[in-house]
Amino acid sequence: MRNFDSDCIFCKIAKGEISSEIVYQDEFVTAFKDLSPVAPVHILMVPNGHYLDLNDCAESDKELLGYILLVGAKIAKQLGIDQSGYRIIVNDGPDAGQTVFHLHFHLLGGRPLAFKNQ
Ligand code: AMP
Ligand code: ZN
Repeated sequence: MRNFDSDCIFCKIAKGEISSEIVYQDEFVTAFKDLSPVAPVHILMVPNGHYLDLNDCAESDKELLGYILLVGAKIAKQLGIDQSGYRIIVNDGPDAGQTVFHLHFHLLGGRPLAFKNQ
């Protein structure tokens, strides 16, 4: 597993060093409520180890990356949006508007979501 970065806000959340509303945590992944939600359900899922973004991942991380999607499905069920639907998004790099450089997956739901693939 990757190490933590002591300057990274999401590493600090995963380690419990700063407070957040954690909805799920295990040895690989931490999920917590986004500070500025854009939907009734807006959760961020992060690997506990520090990865900058998807470009910073390798073939050897494929299990971890797939696992995060399964955790997303589990959280969607936990929060009661598994049947109404949800979207999982990664913003990677400047054109996607990434602002926090610890890989994170947005889980959005609880309302109809506009098509964003443009
Ligand atoms: P992105 O633009 O994809 O890099 O998303 C970063 C997300 O992190 C934004 O939706 C922020 O609202 C969220 N965020 C930043 N700091 C925190 C924090 N301390 N706790 C929870 N969410 C945060
Ligand atoms: Zn980090």
